[in-house]
Amino acid sequence: MANPRESELHYPLGDALPAPGGVLEIAPGLRWVRMGLPFALDHINLWLLRDEIDGRPGWSIVDCGVANEATQALWEQVFAEHLDGLPVLRVIVTHFHPDHIGLAAWLVDKWQCRFSISATDFNLARLASGSTVGMGGQTAAAFFASHGLTDEDSLAKIRARSSYYPSMVPAVPSRFHRLMNGNTLRIGEHDWVCIAGYGHAPEHISLHCPGLGVLISGDMVLPRISTNVSVVDVEPEADPLKLYLNSIAEMLKLPGETLVLPSHGKPFTGLHARVDQLQEHHRERLDDVLAACATKPCHAAELLELLFKRKLDLHQTTFAMGESVAHLNALWLAGQLKRKLDADGIYRFSAV
Ligand SMILES: [Zn+2]
Repeated sequence: MANPRESELHYPLGDALPAPGGVLEIAPGLRWVRMGLPFALDHINLWLLRDEIDGRPGWSIVDCGVANEATQALWEQVFAEHLDGLPVLRVIVTHFHPDHIGLAAWLVDKWQCRFSISATDFNLARLASGSTVGMGGQTAAAFFASHGLTDEDSLAKIRARSSYYPSMVPAVPSRFHRLMNGNTLRIGEHDWVCIAGYGHAPEHISLHCPGLGVLISGDMVLPRISTNVSVVDVEPEADPLKLYLNSIAEMLKLPGETLVLPSHGKPFTGLHARVDQLQEHHRERLDDVLAACATKPCHAAELLELLFKRKLDLHQTTFAMGESVAHLNALWLAGQLKRKLDADGIYRFSAV
């Protein structure tokens, strides 16, 4: 959903964007690459950091783009023209979603380089790339049905989408270097601190460089859209919204003037304002859900219109269902709603 308070943020680079296959220098040794995506969200930002590992000069890449030939061709162009003739030494991935990890195996294989990611996201990516767990198929359809999505046509399409993740992430590197909260990575002349964030992916890693005053936020803080926070079928009783809100509250400890490099949208300043906006956004959604459930018991599917206020296609509906359950679970697990499994097999939530 678009950010109604976007004017509180500042975009220091204005409307400048890197050209396809090109780069835009953010600071010495820090370059911005932008790749297309085959979704409604049509681009992802990737970052190049001048590095040196074991005495070899080169570059670290943060995030990869989806696995397709167009993105590979653009990477080849970046390698030929924008690495100052140096190799890629390391691929860092913020989290396991296809737009971030898709080409990691290709990049790591091509450069025979290090692959850094959290252990949780590494293992989930390996599992999901080799199977259908949590990414569509029968279990996802059953999960959505238990939350009131009973339209047979949609359920049939979700059941059929069983190879969704592997189609975008056909392989994951077989070895990794583990990133954990609080780790410091020496990248070139600067220290970057890993900040683990929860609720969007199992163990998302953002990178903060105090020396440059820069935060590579990944998907945890985006300027325009609110980060997807979903309950998925593999962990149906999770409380990702609580985890997410706790994680972004931690970001308030970073300096207010930090330049935020998000995975989608443009680099911006105004981190504290953005965290406040996201907190407000979810507080309002929680209030709406609580009010609706106070009038009658509600399931997740019937709250979609209230929460999203627009028509959704199937892809958007699956994300929206995950978000709707996330808000219901947050209230239920906080003791503000009670949950009942009705005779029709659907969970309904009502006031306590
Ligand atoms: Zn993501």
